[in-house]
Amino acid sequence: GDEMTEEAVKILKENNVKQVLCAFCDVRGYLQMFSIPAREFTDGSAFEGIGFDGSSVRGFKTIEQSDMVWVPDPSTIKIIPWIDDPVQKTAIMFGDCYEAWGTEVANCDPRGYVAKRLQKMLGDEGKTAIFGPEIEFFVFDSADPTRLTWDMWVSPNGGAGDSWGPPRVMPDSPEVTPGGFIIRPKEGYFRAPPEDTTVEYRNELVYYLEQLGVDVEYHHHEVATAGQVELDFKPKQLVDVGDAFYLYKFAAKNIAAMYGMVATFMPKPLYLDNASGMHTHQSLWKGEPFSGEALFADPDDEFMLSQTARYYIGGLLEHAKALTALCAPTVNSYKRLVPGFEAPIYICWSPRNRSALVRVPMYLKKPSAIRVEYRGADPSCNPYLAFAAMLAAGLDGIKKKIDPGDPLMKDVYELSPKEKKEFGVGELPTTLRDALDHLASDEVIQKVLGSHIFDAFMEIKIDEWNQYCLYITPWEFMKYLDI
Ligand code: GLU
Ligand code: MG
Ligand code: MG
Repeated sequence: GDEMTEEAVKILKENNVKQVLCAFCDVRGYLQMFSIPAREFTDGSAFEGIGFDGSSVRGFKTIEQSDMVWVPDPSTIKIIPWIDDPVQKTAIMFGDCYEAWGTEVANCDPRGYVAKRLQKMLGDEGKTAIFGPEIEFFVFDSADPTRLTWDMWVSPNGGAGDSWGPPRVMPDSPEVTPGGFIIRPKEGYFRAPPEDTTVEYRNELVYYLEQLGVDVEYHHHEVATAGQVELDFKPKQLVDVGDAFYLYKFAAKNIAAMYGMVATFMPKPLYLDNASGMHTHQSLWKGEPFSGEALFADPDDEFMLSQTARYYIGGLLEHAKALTALCAPTVNSYKRLVPGFEAPIYICWSPRNRSALVRVPMYLKKPSAIRVEYRGADPSCNPYLAFAAMLAAGLDGIKKKIDPGDPLMKDVYELSPKEKKEFGVGELPTTLRDALDHLASDEVIQKVLGSHIFDAFMEIKIDEWNQYCLYITPWEFMKYLDI
């Protein structure tokens, strides 16, 4: 509203901001940005909206309908904390994309049309939902593309003595490893400095994220080889968590660049090592989160779970295959969803169990800490679409009273085909193409996207899959050249 606008003007003036980065995302979830000098906001009419060409944004508009309007959400304004130079002083603001004339939110806008709408629908019932994503990513030491290519094919566990992997090449010359970097054996989880060489980077990222309104609760080196990190921030509601996802990636990449590193959210950059996931903790509330009633908690239940939470889990499992298309939307995502690397492959739920698709954390025994963790997502997703789809799946479970049955208390990677049948455990899609086919037959998930975004998403992703299918990989030569 107007108060928010006044507040934003005050922030721009008091901080002598010169430029505003205007943010939104395309249907794939790629961050889109353009710059408007701050004066256009403080002394001009930029808060009313700014026109742009919607036909140049993936999944938005055709050329004959290309005029669109970006309308800022002044409540999201933040000063970019790592920029000190007075000439460069910059703020960032998220906005929604409107149809021409700026009177109606466009049906191609993931934030305004999908996330905002669903959050409002829930709000109209007096409820709120919060999401706490555990975003993992890699920081590589150098932006040198040779290093990245080399990393892709050589991994500490892989190769040598392994009849199906590529030959293991140990670095022995600076030509092979610019910077003389040697990958040490895989034991990244909770490593201490100085072996954990990312701690200063993470500390700095935490410091800046806090100034961007993204408060980190916990951060550490992750399981994969040198350079996989995880920073988890406080849970937020649907629209805010999508914005926070972008602030997180934006800060992670920019701070990495200041250290001469590259941050990548590609799910599986390293052969035979853990991938980057985005486990998402979620819970429903009557009224406001934490001060309201925790709808997922029941102190009398053995896992502290209410029947509502069980139905929500039932919905997540019921729609898991279609959800995968949105939560793991790249060809590379399916290199993550394989056995043995803590990523889910079977559709089941279980308390404490890190091999299940839906895990119920058993950390603190208090109602406000009770939530379910959906482990199927990775950070290559469009966050507004992925979080909205998870919520829609869970709510559908509540609406249809889908009971997920008893939890499976086993390491599901070890299940035999017979046991899988006995326990009724399904499998997640194993390729992007497979996941897209499931999305195409799931009306509940399609409905939350709306027909424009659903069609655009399918078109973009089928094209992506088809592009990938054209490639002949080194693995195929190794495997088949001599047959
Ligand atoms: N990196 C794992 C994944 O791809 C998760 C590891 C963990 O439990 O944090 O989901
Ligand atoms: Mg983790
Ligand atoms: Mg987790």
